[in-house]
Amino acid sequence: MSSITLKNICKTYEDSGVKAVQDFNMEIEDKEFIIFVGPSGCGKSTTLRMIAGLEEISSGELYIDGELMNEVEPKDRDIAMVFQNYALYPHMTVFENMAFGLKLHKIPKAEIKEKVEKAAKVLDLQDYLDRKPKALSGGQRQRVAMGRAIVRNPKVFLMDEPLSNLDAKLRVQMRTEIAKLHNRLGTTMIYVTHDQTEAMTLGTRIVVMKDGIVQQIDTPHNLYAYPCNLFVAGFIGSPQMNFFTATCQAEGDKAKLILGDYEIELPEAKAKALIEGGYAGKEVTMGIRPEDLHATDTQVLATNPSCEMHAEVNVYELLGSEVFLYFNFCGANVIARTEPDTKAQVGDNVGFVMDVDKIHVFDKDTEVTITN
Ligand code: ADP
Repeated sequence: MSSITLKNICKTYEDSGVKAVQDFNMEIEDKEFIIFVGPSGCGKSTTLRMIAGLEEISSGELYIDGELMNEVEPKDRDIAMVFQNYALYPHMTVFENMAFGLKLHKIPKAEIKEKVEKAAKVLDLQDYLDRKPKALSGGQRQRVAMGRAIVRNPKVFLMDEPLSNLDAKLRVQMRTEIAKLHNRLGTTMIYVTHDQTEAMTLGTRIVVMKDGIVQQIDTPHNLYAYPCNLFVAGFIGSPQMNFFTATCQAEGDKAKLILGDYEIELPEAKAKALIEGGYAGKEVTMGIRPEDLHATDTQVLATNPSCEMHAEVNVYELLGSEVFLYFNFCGANVIARTEPDTKAQVGDNVGFVMDVDKIHVFDKDTEVTITN
């Protein structure tokens, strides 16, 4: 069992005065796989390092299993950390690298052997135990680094961009390995990445950070479907959500978004949120994901009665199961991720519709979501 509580955690680097993390609050439950994601410099590693005890907490409280950890030495926190650069000892074999931490803790030899062999089996490293790190591939070295953490049977597993040194194919492979490992071990894991695909595929919950401030903590599905602000909406999802400036027009309990020459009638719940929020007559930022824009010559939404718009296709990309159409519309560069049966070609003026249920609307100034 290992739950983690972060309560008003802040970190200011005294020398530079950088406020790296501000008021981080979260309850992490036993066995969760938590991802910290966000652009470089947003405070992910700093938060992870504070949990590990490698960085002092400026203010706030950190609890593991209800016990205050602020002043507890890293070695006494029962946490294992896997770093980006693996930090393996080059002169030691795989076995020795994995056994090292156990030896330090004066575990009997026979027990060390048993633990290392068990971890090697889990990680498919049995045949490499006598090799030195330089005789291993990047993926194997990564597994040794994990093995070194697993043998200690820690309460919590922390990983800081563990896949960033691997090539694209290996990253995907290791990603599934890590997911399997989490299922098998059932240990609470916290994983730092700047890669939103890694975040979406691995996390049971994701923490999106920006400039040291937590933006949203949610399941992958909820982050994608109900982003709390413009930043999260743009950060999660690839290709990213399309954004436009539109004007809200309301009459009675109905509301429309006016986008250039087009009027988009909003579904009841969204109209209500805009009207009650006092946005009638005001400019807002409208967002729509590429897959919620469909060329009207395709099967899927050809019958959708909502407003049909037109724009000229600049780029056509066939990805096999789908087509990306790029065009310029109402002053924005727009991507539609549409069905492969579209006949649209570069230079064509195509008709397309939006799935109005999937429209997101944000306050133009605060960038907070209005409609979710
Ligand atoms: P991330 O992991 O999201 O890339 P970091 O947690 O490494 O971000 O950094 C957050 C902020 O703190 C950045 O502005 C970074 O420059 C600053 N920072 C990180 N480590 C130190 C340090 N040891 N001393 C001073 N500033 C630091």
